[in-house]
Amino acid sequence: MILPTNCERIRQSTSEVISPHTWADLSITVIPYYWRLDLSPDFSSFSSVIADDLTVSPLIDDQFLLSSSVPLPSGSHYRYYTDGSLINLGTPEVSMGWSWVQIIPDTGYLNSVATYAHGTIQNWPSSTRAEAAAIYAALSVTPADSTVTIYTDSQAAIDGLRLCASSSYSNSRLFYKTTNFELWASIERLVHTKSLAISPVKVKGHDGNYWNEFADSLANSAHLSDMAPLLPVGAYTSSHPVRLVYDNVVCESNPRRLFKLHYQATFLKDLLSLKRFQFVYCLYDRNDYVVDWELTWFTLNFSPAHDASFQASHAARHYTFKFKLFLDDLPLLEKLKVTRSDLYIDLLTCRSCRDRMEDLMHLILCSKRRSVMHQILQSYQNHLFSKLREASDLADQDPTPSLRKLSSLSCWTISSSNWSSYALIRGCLPTMFIDLFVELSIPRPSAMKVVAAIHNNFIQKLRKHV
Ligand SMILES: [Zn+2]
Repeated sequence: MILPTNCERIRQSTSEVISPHTWADLSITVIPYYWRLDLSPDFSSFSSVIADDLTVSPLIDDQFLLSSSVPLPSGSHYRYYTDGSLINLGTPEVSMGWSWVQIIPDTGYLNSVATYAHGTIQNWPSSTRAEAAAIYAALSVTPADSTVTIYTDSQAAIDGLRLCASSSYSNSRLFYKTTNFELWASIERLVHTKSLAISPVKVKGHDGNYWNEFADSLANSAHLSDMAPLLPVGAYTSSHPVRLVYDNVVCESNPRRLFKLHYQATFLKDLLSLKRFQFVYCLYDRNDYVVDWELTWFTLNFSPAHDASFQASHAARHYTFKFKLFLDDLPLLEKLKVTRSDLYIDLLTCRSCRDRMEDLMHLILCSKRRSVMHQILQSYQNHLFSKLREASDLADQDPTPSLRKLSSLSCWTISSSNWSSYALIRGCLPTMFIDLFVELSIPRPSAMKVVAAIHNNFIQKLRKHV
């Protein structure tokens, strides 16, 4: 691209100038500058295509958008490149940007870009939501009775738009099952109330398509731009008479799943507030041992395979032992003294060493059991080592870094001040176990099965020897 210039020297010797800056960067720098000068830019040379028949006044909803599309004669074909951008997912700095670029070919606009807009949207962060927000923003500034082509690199957005054609969001059970259902229902409402004929077109992302890259840079720059407006929640969540609101956030995610998650989180919080789970709060080294609750639940429920030597009755005992260990509910003397104070007097001490009170921590630390505990933990580690080596071979990678990471975990050494080995034995397994396999391109579900099987094996040994 080269801008028009009168300078002969440049015109003769230059055909292309490559700039490290995008149009979006430039607009962000230049627009506040001319605002500060309080001068309106002169776009008169670009106005040839503007029709004198401005039939549609913008909806109230649309006032928030700084830019509207360049109006065309009624019934015209609007072309938009839309894009979304998601950054910092999983952190408090998460941000979703959206953008649209209106294209009017062969009318004298620089590279056919008639106008563009960008902004942000809040809550329910996902890249698909950012993409859908871009489409919503573009359609909300499009006049009624138009034909619209949306160019996007998001297949999810295209699928979503196709569903709008069949009124899927306004009158079917699909509504609450769709993620971002309020946003999609609002897009569908725009399509129907404005009688828009929409055709989505898939473009390849990051493939050098000028307009797509332009839209991409606009969406990316929205995160930090003071001028990028936030799509107001009220605008895109009012297509139905009922809204689900919790803590001032409008629900846009499958309510059934959301309630389930909410209750699971509440139950987990209750569980962790029990005294017997206080040790979890002692695991504060985020680089060492962080409990992976998904893996923990999965392993608890993972039943060992039955065969001739390991029958259903064995499995039932294994299961009971595993849960009692997890809940610190094994019939150890210190527990029995509380539950059956008529049978167990306070003086009773560990049956093995006769030296200490027998609670779960002592069961692990007891001097008479130290070497066997150490062996069992060592074989747990070796088991994981061999599986990691297998995974490295499959991925054709050097296993050394992952083996080193695994052996550096504090949980392999037992001591009275080491809560990570206690956590491991209780069955609260660390994120690292899975991460190491995932880093070697093993899918998470498969990694969970491998770890759960190894842990079950460990539980069996523990049950036999302790
Ligand atoms: Zn003892």
